[in-house]
Amino acid sequence: MADVAIAGGGIIGLSIAFELASRGASVRVYDSAEPARAASWAAAGMLAPLTERLADDAMQALCEASLRRYPAFASAIANAGGVDPYLSLDGILHTAYDDASLERLAARGAALEAAGHRATLLERAETLLAEPALGKHVRGALLVEGEGQIDNRRLGRALAAACRARGVRIHTGIEHLRIECDARRVLGVRSSAGYDPAGAIVNAAGAWAAQLEGVPQNCVPTVRPVKGQMLAIEIPKGFMRHTIWVPGGYLVPRRDGRLLVGATVEEAGYDARVTSGGIASLLRAALDAAPALSAFSVSETWAGLRPGTPDERPYVCATPLHGYYLAAGHYRNGILLAPETATLVAGMVEGAAAGPPSFTLERFSTKARSA
Ligand SMILES: Cc1cc2nc3c(=O)[nH]c(=O)nc-3n(C[C@H](O)[C@H](O)[C@H](O)COP(=O)(O)OP(=O)(O)OC[C@H]3O[C@@H](n4cnc5c(N)ncnc54)[C@H](O)[C@@H]3O)c2cc1C
Repeated sequence: MADVAIAGGGIIGLSIAFELASRGASVRVYDSAEPARAASWAAAGMLAPLTERLADDAMQALCEASLRRYPAFASAIANAGGVDPYLSLDGILHTAYDDASLERLAARGAALEAAGHRATLLERAETLLAEPALGKHVRGALLVEGEGQIDNRRLGRALAAACRARGVRIHTGIEHLRIECDARRVLGVRSSAGYDPAGAIVNAAGAWAAQLEGVPQNCVPTVRPVKGQMLAIEIPKGFMRHTIWVPGGYLVPRRDGRLLVGATVEEAGYDARVTSGGIASLLRAALDAAPALSAFSVSETWAGLRPGTPDERPYVCATPLHGYYLAAGHYRNGILLAPETATLVAGMVEGAAAGPPSFTLERFSTKARSA
């Protein structure tokens, strides 16, 4: 297999690196900062293809396929690098605080069951038994089984360790990364670290994917940053157990005692500042749903840039430039989509697979739109 260079060491780039190195490729990752410290660090780590509103059936199928891969993916990473990324698939609880919302949840539960998933509608008493810290005004909840979360910051560390154990070279603090190519194919990457030839190059540069230099214009994806702010509250062990969707936000309990509260969705360019308005809206959602949280301290606030695309579907594809691949634009589901993206891209680089049509560059071409 060709020597592979990966631009961007977020969870997408590292997952591809790990998969390719596990298949025997020689892989180098180039990151302008530290690996897995951008959107992949800022995320909530929910693995929720049934909970998230997704673009369409193709995106739904991609997300569900990736969730199915997660247990094997997480244990392969933990075994290779020695860091457990704390995968937990014990369901996501959707709460309702009035009758109309509970009726909508009941209909959603019935639709999920009809599609072969498991979802259980809980009355108020059952909801409070499952999560006693919720406000007593909760009306009920829907437990969507099989979904869950992974500690994405641990996953970043686990992937970096697993990649290094497989011989992947991770170059950090890289400046002026540029792809070198001729009229037909990629030749290598040039950067502050010098020139390295490469037979295949993967653009996994997240919200910066459109800015990678050196490639022809018809290989540039349309990706923009979509800001998300979050905060963490320190809670006693066991105070909240499930990942919980509440009106206006979500609550994600971590094993280290932090309860993550997320997230805003803002068109703010590359501005990743935390704002008082953003934090106020998150606290309002959390405290309205669970007033008991008001006793605990806020330990951290942060913001990250999701890589958004015009149709909320990622690019996971080859390009007109031979040897150049895109794995970018995973928007709200990049943590969830890491294992499936890695498998698809590794298949393309090996020459075994073309990749699904819904995630190509060509889907935005005039011809594709008028077909
Ligand atoms: C607040 C928030 C909550 C989220 N919650 C969830 C969730 O619950 N579940 C879920 O599945 N997803 C979630 N996401 C989305 C998820 O975080 C992203 O889709 C995912 O992290 C994208 O990964 P990535 O590797 O493509 O990008 P990133 O993690 O952003 O990594 C891109 C990397 O490329 C590097 N880079 C950029 N340009 C260059 C260059 N020119 N040269 C070299 N390196 C470069 C950057 O330094 C960075 O390390 C959330 C995102 C946010 C912001």
